[in-house]
Amino acid sequence: MFSSWNIKTRRQMISFLYHLAVLMFSFFGIEVGFALGSNGLINLSACLFAFHLLTFRVIPISRWIQEQLIQEAVCYACGQEVELVNQYRCSCGYISPRERHVFSPCPICGKCFSWIVCPVCETSILI
Ligand SMILES: [Zn+2]
Ligand SMILES: [Zn+2]
Repeated sequence: MFSSWNIKTRRQMISFLYHLAVLMFSFFGIEVGFALGSNGLINLSACLFAFHLLTFRVIPISRWIQEQLIQEAVCYACGQEVELVNQYRCSCGYISPRERHVFSPCPICGKCFSWIVCPVCETSILI
């Protein structure tokens, strides 16, 4: 069922689950800390929560998970499998010397791809 969703939905789902997991973990830790009277656990969970709030836009852990879980796209129109790790060319003209995942922003201009084009039928695939 998971694989029949389009890439964009899967990515949103993964980042949603990731944030939910971190938040649940922090709150659960705080609850358990209070129940056990453990200040160490409360502080640790509160730190995790604060760390998450401060860094979730900066540290791309959820993008990293997306890149690990989603390695190829399937074209809606013709069913062709498209590798997402490739030497993609950014609209600024930059082509990375190494293969990169299409979810990663361009190292030069920072722009992210919002779609890729099927090499067989040229349909745009939202990512
Ligand atoms: Zn670029
Ligand atoms: Zn296609």
